[in-house]
This record gives sequence, structure tokens and C-alpha cells, in this order.
Amino acid sequence: MTSRRDIPFGRPDIDDADRQAVLEVLQQHVLTHGPQCKAFEVEFAAFVGAPAAVTVSSCMAALHLSHMHLGIGPGDEVIVPAQTHVATVHAVELTGAKPVFVDCEIHTGNVDLALVEKAISPRTRAVTVVHFAGIPANMARLRALADAHRLKVIEDCALAVGARFQGRHVGLWGKSGCFSFYPVKHMTTGEGGMLISCHTDELQEMANFRAFNVDRSANRPQAPGVYDVAGVGLNYRMSEMAAALGRSQLRKMPRFLAARAANFHTLQSRLRDIPGLQWLDADGEEAQSSHYCLVAMLPGKMGDKRSEVVERLKEFGVGVSVYYPQPTPRMSYYRNRYGYDARNFPHAEIISDRSIALPVGPHLDATDMHYMGDRLAQLAGEMT
Ligand SMILES: *Cc1c(COP(=O)(O)O)cnc(C)c1O
Repeated sequence: MTSRRDIPFGRPDIDDADRQAVLEVLQQHVLTHGPQCKAFEVEFAAFVGAPAAVTVSSCMAALHLSHMHLGIGPGDEVIVPAQTHVATVHAVELTGAKPVFVDCEIHTGNVDLALVEKAISPRTRAVTVVHFAGIPANMARLRALADAHRLKVIEDCALAVGARFQGRHVGLWGKSGCFSFYPVKHMTTGEGGMLISCHTDELQEMANFRAFNVDRSANRPQAPGVYDVAGVGLNYRMSEMAAALGRSQLRKMPRFLAARAANFHTLQSRLRDIPGLQWLDADGEEAQSSHYCLVAMLPGKMGDKRSEVVERLKEFGVGVSVYYPQPTPRMSYYRNRYGYDARNFPHAEIISDRSIALPVGPHLDATDMHYMGDRLAQLAGEMT
């Protein structure tokens, strides 16, 4: 019997360089609107191959800005995945437009594009996708579909820094890409996010929305502090402390991504021995995952008793998570508002109710992966 290990699902990797970066900001006097945010935007854009990037206070903020910028409202529809973080859907709902939910594929967790096509109506204005657990959706097919119907595409890349399709980073395929720097994601700024786009004019407009929609250019060459607003806006800015942490974290991303990929592959090879166990993975050579976690669909009795599996793993010291615990249309708010028929979402139901998300983050190594694989195999033996 191997000795018990401590394997938390997520633990931000904060080292002395990160702490130093934040302290240096605090030793100056510029806490917002400063050089750290500007530099972080330039460096993040270079990392993903975007022409520009805009720091924001969260991924939800980036998603909201993206949908708000579409100018949609009551009477419009946006197609969204049923299996995603609620933020993806809230961003549509907040505009007054109707989110139209579509089921996912059972092998990738990504939205099923045949069902997306069926869901298109004369009211559809956009399709919002999530790259599920870092597995890129087939963006070439989605783009072709969206272009044929003159729809905008928004990408929720919260778990997908480093994910590419046909070599092109996610977030660069449609109108905009939205990233999260929440603590358990690939890299962190505490709270924070980034918005990228190939359409630099639109990105600038979204950047203005993010800062009260202030238009400083209109008043040049008047005195500083004088400005005008031509529309409503929000305050979704990032602070200088957060940006300094983000820059420091970004430098470690190549190592973080390599560790995640190695852990994922080690765990995957171990799980092949468990009969009936399946997991989400990238589909084909064109899709390069950012390996956020390994989502395993539990077979038979194990799946029926998911909470017991989670409990037992916790006793073994393994922290698992569920991505996501309910299909969004089944959540009270959306169910009450739009109704819910489980028969429309068979795959989302399986992932929500019968899967566990196993950690593969850079805080873990191959020994941890073998330990998790062994404990799962043990439970499979006991429970089938
Ligand atoms: C975490 C997450 C979000 C929300 O990110 P925040 O930065 O916390 O707003 C949105 N979408 C997905 C897919 C996520 O996993």
C-alpha cells in the first residue's frame, strides 16, 4: 500500500519572483492605469500571437464586454453550450438576448456543431463557444458555419491559454477571445482576465466600454482630466498589482503547459487499464489542448455513485472537481426562465452527473498521476 499523498485539485504556483513583482508596484504610486497593464497586454498578445490584448477584471467581464459590443438585446438569440461555466451564459442573458442551449459532444465536451446548425434561427446573432477544459473546439468548421449564416463567434477561453486549432491560438478565430486568471486556472492574477481579438478597432471599442466608455480623444487638446462619454460603460479594469503578477506568471507558462501535458499523458496511460472508463480529449492532430484537467466519465456503478467516488478519493488525499456540476439550462434561474428538457442534453447530463475532473496541474508530478490512477483502479475494482 502506497502512503497517502496530498493532491489538491488546484494550487496557484506563486514564487518569490511573483511576490517581488507585486511588491515593486506597491513601492511606487501608480496602482491603476499604469505601465504594468500595458506591458502585460503586449506580452500576453505576443504569447498567443494576437495583434493586441486588453486587460480586464475577469473572464466574465471579457465575455460581457464582447456580448455588449454586439449591440444585441431582447428579440435576439445567441447559441451557447449547455455544458459550460454559467459566466458564458450570463454574458448573453445580461444583454437581454436569449441564450439558446445546445448539447455537447461526448468525446470532447465541446459544443456539437451539427446541433449548432440546427439551432440557428432568423433571430440568431452569434455563437459563443467554450473550449472545454482546454480542448479546442473545431474552429475551422465553426467559422465556416458562422460565416455562411453571417453570425459572430465569441470564444470563452477561460481554460484554454495555450490551446490551438490548426496551429492558431484559440480566441483568434472569431470576434473575440476571453481568458481567465482566477486562481485555479492556468495562470493567475487573483481575479483577472484578458480580452483578445484580431479586429483591433473593435477591441479598442471594447477597451473603452471597460473604462466607463470615456472618450479622451474627443477632447484633445483640452486639459487633462477633461473627457466626454458617448455611451454607457462599465469599470472592468485590472489593477497594476494584478498585472504585475500576471506578467510574472506568464513567464512561467511554457513550463506550466509542459507539466500539464506530461501529467495528462501519464494519467491517461494509467486509466486505459480501467474497464469502461472514458475521458474527454482533443479530437485529431489539428486540436492542441491546454490540458486544464482530465475529465473522466465514470462507468456503470461508479458513475451512479459519483459522490461516493469523490468522497473516497478525498480520503485518499485526492481533490477532484466537477466541470460543471449541472448543465447551465438545468440551473434554477435558467430552468425557471426557459424550461428544461433533459432529453435535449444527454451528453451534458452525462458529463455533469457522471464525470470527475482529475487535476494535472504543474503542482503535481508523475508519481501523483500514478497514485491517482491506482486509487481509481482500486475503486473500480471495489465498486463494479
Ligand atoms: C472559470 C471560468 C469562467 C469565469 O472566469 P472568471 O475569470 O472567474 O470570470 C468562465 N468560463 C469558463 C469556461 C470558466 O471555466
